[in-house]
Amino acid sequence: MDSSIDEAVTPDATDAAGTGTGPAAGGGPERAAGERGALAPVSLSPSRAGDFMQCPLLYRFRVIDRLPEKPSEAATRGTLVHAVLERLFDAPAGERTAPRAKALIPGQWDRLRESRPELTELFADDPEGERLAGWLAEAERLVERWFTLEDPTRLEPAERELFVETELDSGLRLRGIIDRVDVAPTGEVRIVDYKTGKAPRPEYAEGALFQMKFYALVVWRLKGVVPRRLQLVYLGSGDVLTYDPVPADLERVERRLHALWEAIRQATESGDWRPRPTKLCGWCDHRAHCPEFGGTPPPYPLPVRAPGSRAG
Ligand code: SF4
Repeated sequence: MDSSIDEAVTPDATDAAGTGTGPAAGGGPERAAGERGALAPVSLSPSRAGDFMQCPLLYRFRVIDRLPEKPSEAATRGTLVHAVLERLFDAPAGERTAPRAKALIPGQWDRLRESRPELTELFADDPEGERLAGWLAEAERLVERWFTLEDPTRLEPAERELFVETELDSGLRLRGIIDRVDVAPTGEVRIVDYKTGKAPRPEYAEGALFQMKFYALVVWRLKGVVPRRLQLVYLGSGDVLTYDPVPADLERVERRLHALWEAIRQATESGDWRPRPTKLCGWCDHRAHCPEFGGTPPPYPLPVRAPGSRAG
């Protein structure tokens, strides 16, 4: 769900496992404690890379300040649909049918609310349950559409919701969660990501593939194998976007990530996080803190290096 500035940062909602549009989860490995107990970023995920490319100040709000964000219906539905598609593979191949998948929705929704009680506020103003019913019906439609795009009775994923992390030679740590990894009998690897939004227009396809190339780079560095195929499955529009990467593609992504990380490092040290307003600001939870909208960011919680001084 990253995109070149892509749909990782749009209201697509496929942040199934905390790799997407929300703040870094849990105070965990995306940051490290610094002086005064403040937290500086220590690793990069596709979503956070997308945040920085969209708007450096948004990155700061999410990763360093960790400002809370309201759960959104679209993002939560994405999480729910991802959980259903993942759990369906627990069933024997012949039983992975659309009715069975749809039947998983209520139980997965219960589990989601138990693990994230704040989600109950999504429908707190819906006493009759009408909006909730419509929301669940849309989740059903998305799940059903998947069966027109892939046939799970013929798939045996090697991995589902796979957490991956690697450290590049430069010391930059990359991490993320891959929705599905398929491995052919010949050993060829396919990385699959589900999107509950719509496929981007062709001119934005490269952006949509950024996240996939990020994952391919991590897999390449971890296993020494360049994935044969990257596959984005758009449940919102019923499209499948594929790309067969070559090492040069992934080397380009690696260089781009190093440049991005250097920019993040400099902003972290200087405290200079520029807002970059775009039409995506309409989806930003932090307008009240954003100077572009008359707001003031909270005091910067990290030590600031004076201009011109160099790291020791
Ligand atoms: S409102 Fe726009 S410019 Fe401001 S922080 Fe959010 S994304 Fe950046």
